[in-house]
Amino acid sequence: MKEVKTQKRYKCDFCKKRGIVRTMKFHEKNCYRNPRRVCSACNNTGKYEYDTGDDNSTMVEVICHYCEKFDPQKIEDIKEYELSLQDKPLTDKD
Ligand SMILES: [Zn+2]
Ligand SMILES: [Zn+2]
Repeated sequence: MKEVKTQKRYKCDFCKKRGIVRTMKFHEKNCYRNPRRVCSACNNTGKYEYDTGDDNSTMVEVICHYCEKFDPQKIEDIKEYELSLQDKPLTDKD
């Protein structure tokens, strides 16, 4: 029997996503719930350039589809997802 290394799990400050530190550091910055979200693809400019990678390699500017996805529906989806995770209703301590 071998011991399996386990990594500490972290929870997103903004949503209920959990994961190992590397995943969560990346996620929190990109979290759709984060009011100061920094888009990893476009750095909040709404568009980014990528290399087509063919022979005459050219940079093409595209609309950032990650930021395009940032719409109210996304927030609703997250809410629903979070509700589905809740087994017990939260108790108000205030
Ligand atoms: Zn999150
Ligand atoms: Zn973006």
